[in-house]
This record gives sequence, structure tokens and C-alpha cells, in this order.
Amino acid sequence: MTKLCSISGDQMDLIFTKTVLGKYDVEYFKCPKCGFIQTQKPFWLPEAYSSAITALDLGLASRNFDNRSRLEPLLWQLFDKKAKYVDIGGGYGLLTRLMRDIGFDFYSYDIYCENIFAKPYEPIPGIKTDALFAFEVFEHIEDPLTFLKESLNNYNSTTIIFSTLTFKEDVPPADWWYYSFDTGQHISLYKKESIRKMADLINKNYYNLSDDLHIITDKKINPFFLAIYRIKLLRKFLQLFIRFLRRRESLLTTDHKQQTLILQDLQKTP
Ligand SMILES: [Zn+2]
Repeated sequence: MTKLCSISGDQMDLIFTKTVLGKYDVEYFKCPKCGFIQTQKPFWLPEAYSSAITALDLGLASRNFDNRSRLEPLLWQLFDKKAKYVDIGGGYGLLTRLMRDIGFDFYSYDIYCENIFAKPYEPIPGIKTDALFAFEVFEHIEDPLTFLKESLNNYNSTTIIFSTLTFKEDVPPADWWYYSFDTGQHISLYKKESIRKMADLINKNYYNLSDDLHIITDKKINPFFLAIYRIKLLRKFLQLFIRFLRRRESLLTTDHKQQTLILQDLQKTP
């Protein structure tokens, strides 16, 4: 079987065959140019997603809190107060609710999952946004470059911030947990070079914020801020300081008033 890199278009090399979901022999390929690793065409995905977010995912809530802590200083540094944001892998809408609670105008969308926490805050068609977020999305998608272009286009955005754990080796060892052979859900694995290639192809800048957090944007990020942000302890101090500065900016009260008015209107309508 041959395969072309869905990022750079180069011919990929077969690196190994592994058993996925405990029963399917699946071929993994690597791009010699951008380092991207991808499985063969993933026929097993419907089975891998028999439930969108599996019952075994106990870390879901705390990851959303962590993501909020990582986003607050970054958004404070890069965008103005009126900025609008869409979480395009929004899941249950928890991150959107948490971000609105600290004053960021967030909306949540997820094609595979019911929005529970941020139902009134789904993006309307044609919305103009300042940044998109895609946490735990890129390792699941088959054609990341197309996904990237379409997402920025659909939400009129020039920035996307996303997670995916990058690797440094040529090919990570077989016991690297992120291959996730048991679940069969991680079909695309990236080096920083693979992500930089995507940014180059759409004429944007790429900044690696940590091994698993990335930003592709038109903006130039202040190198001093980046240096602080990349050191976990300093980022935490910065985040607490910014939390204090922004302590009165929550949207919770205005959101609540607005939803109460909508509810009252609905109750009046016979
Ligand atoms: Zn490539």
C-alpha cells in the first residue's frame, strides 16, 4: 500500500504494522519530508468512536481546567477585550462555560458531541472570530491541512490554538502511549516540523507553546512573553497575576440575565 502525506504531499514510507482495537492489523506511514506519521485509511473509526467521549475518560474535567489556565495569559496577551472565540472541538461545552466565567466571549461547536454546558453559545453561521481552539482534535483527523484551512475560513479567523502531543524522534518507540493502539483513535501524529509545514502552506506563523500546545496565527508573538509562557512555573505566576487583574470580568451574571429573559419570553408565548 502506498500513501501520500496529507500535509506536504510527499510519498510516505511504511514504518510498521500494529494491532489496533485489539484486532485490526493497521499500517503506519511516515513522511520523510515533514515527519508526519499517519495510519492507513482508517476504516475502524466508527467502532473506535462507539461513544464520542468514552466512559473511561476520567481526566476530562481537570483537563478543561488546565486548558483554561493555559489560555488565559495567552488570550490576554494576544487579543483585545471584545474578542470572540470558538472552541471547534467543544465536546460538552465545558471549556466554553469556564472561559465565559472568566470573561472571554467563547462559543462551542462539536460535530460529534452534544453541547451540554454551553448550549446557548453555539457559533452562528458567518461569525467573525479572533481565534479558534481545537483541543484533542488534530490527532483524530485524517486531513489536517484541509481541516485547518476550512476551520479558519468557516469562522473568519486568522488564528488557531490547538493541542496535540508532538514527538522529537524520527519514529517514536512502540510503547509511546500517544499511539493509542488500544483505542484506535489517534490516526495522525505530528512533529513540530509537520505543524510548521502546515503554517507555511497557509502563509501563517507557527509558535510552539509546549510539546502539546501550538498556535498558528497571523500575529507576531512577543519573544519575551513566549519565553515566560514556556516555563511552567513562570506561566502559573503570570496566570495568577492576570486572574487577579481580570477578576471582575466574568460573563456569568450577564449570561444568566440574558438566559432568564429568553426563558421568560418563551413562557409568555402560548
Ligand atoms: Zn509530509
